[in-house]
Amino acid sequence: MSDTNRTVNVLSPPARNGHRPPANPGASADVVLAIVAADATEREVRMLVEGLRTRDIEASAYDTGPGVVMFEGLPADEVAALLADEPAVERLIMADTRYRLVRRDVQPEGSQVWIGGVPFGRDYVSIMAGPCAVESREQLLTIARACRAHGAAVLRGGAFKPRTSPYDFQGLGMHGLELLAEAREETGMPVISEVMEPAMVERMYPYVDAFQVGARNMQNFPLLKALGDIDKPVMLKRGLSATLEEWLLAAEYILTGGNHRVLLCERGIRTFGSSTRFTLDLAAMALAKRETHLPVIVDPSHATGNPHLVAPMARAALAAGADGLMIEVHNAPGQARSDGDQAIRPAALGETVAQLDALAASMGRTLVRGPLLMGATAG
Ligand code: PEP
Ligand code: MN
Repeated sequence: MSDTNRTVNVLSPPARNGHRPPANPGASADVVLAIVAADATEREVRMLVEGLRTRDIEASAYDTGPGVVMFEGLPADEVAALLADEPAVERLIMADTRYRLVRRDVQPEGSQVWIGGVPFGRDYVSIMAGPCAVESREQLLTIARACRAHGAAVLRGGAFKPRTSPYDFQGLGMHGLELLAEAREETGMPVISEVMEPAMVERMYPYVDAFQVGARNMQNFPLLKALGDIDKPVMLKRGLSATLEEWLLAAEYILTGGNHRVLLCERGIRTFGSSTRFTLDLAAMALAKRETHLPVIVDPSHATGNPHLVAPMARAALAAGADGLMIEVHNAPGQARSDGDQAIRPAALGETVAQLDALAASMGRTLVRGPLLMGATAG
């Protein structure tokens, strides 16, 4: 399922300020996205962009699944005339939103993101599960085996924890990543772990199959830019008080940097409600699915902070169209060093997965129980 033959990656992203001013300063400064034809070759797109450049017309090519060539500052009808006989271009979109590459109409069928061999999006729904924090070798391996046995496809565990109090357990750091790699080796599950600072992206890269950006870092722009430079998937959690547009623009930072393997995760927002830890904003999840082609998953653990609410909210999320779930699981929640109050036990995960499996099937989707293509990172 690799898309590298089909799509384009012809240019490094442009200097953000390097665009030609509008030919006619009085005309509207449109942003037009030219969607590359599915059968266009990288060479064809490169020739197109270079050909335009010799005529002093600046366009930028992005690999977003289907390729996109972005025109800024030229009236749309001028762009349409320029591309009228261009076989590499399938259709044009007027980008009338602040976000561009993440727009749903860039890829109306929705994009699919693979973590290791595990797909999220379109026909597939997958579950990430694991402890909030990696605490020890024994703890992680016990939970990883149980999560695998009970239907989770991706192992989630924090090595670097963004804790509200500096006195709380901060995670095992690099040692935690080594343990995650060991758990992957043993169970075959790809792993995802949170990254908090740009300098850690390169150091974590060999150990993880995907990077988690936590709610508190959704607008850590240097981090988003660093993650735009890599070729591994990024799960971007919604900020505690972020609007949908802010969330999508944060994702846009990663795509515009050149990495289109992004999934969004709704994890609850701050409201006046105090009976749950946060308020699960399922409407925003469903709206995000309309606004963007990126897969959107839901984290019912942090959203509710209550293990009894994890299963019902997981079912609701799937029924509302989520492409996956992230669930905190612990074999001994009472002894967990982080978020034990909201963790469910492995057996409860198994019951929930059985319900989700039936629900997914009734919606014509497949709940993925393990890697489909070992080591694949397509999408
Ligand atoms: C977590 O996933 O453990 C976590 C800290 O989540 P969030 O960033 O959503 O609070
Ligand atoms: Mn947690």
